[in-house]
Amino acid sequence: MAPEPSEIARPFWEGCNVGKLLIQRCRQCGTFIHHPEPECVRCGSADLIFDPVDGTGRIETFTVVHRSFVPSYQDATPYAVGWIALPEQRNLRIFSAIHGKDVLDAVVIDAPVEVRFEQVEGFGAVPVFVLR
Ligand SMILES: [Zn+2]
Repeated sequence: MAPEPSEIARPFWEGCNVGKLLIQRCRQCGTFIHHPEPECVRCGSADLIFDPVDGTGRIETFTVVHRSFVPSYQDATPYAVGWIALPEQRNLRIFSAIHGKDVLDAVVIDAPVEVRFEQVEGFGAVPVFVLR
């Protein structure tokens, strides 16, 4: 199932297509914002850009999906998804699939991960985080 990008999130997805994790950022106060918003969640400025981040992170929390309600994911079960805390800012996190060698046994809270980009047919690249 392909994501349905909003207009405001378009630069995020364009970044994925060139292998960059771009996170919305306020040019006035420097706050990173995810998911993208029309105004800065801290200072209210609409002067927003998308800045590349390192692409590393740590698993803040995760779950292993054994029964998916999404038809196109039912063949993929079991799989791991979770919230990835990014190091650039406190409380900056992104929801993602979690991949890696023996991921269902190896996935733990606080495990270090890094971003990869996978092609979704009919959509383009999506970020996934891989155990390091
Ligand atoms: Zn701001």
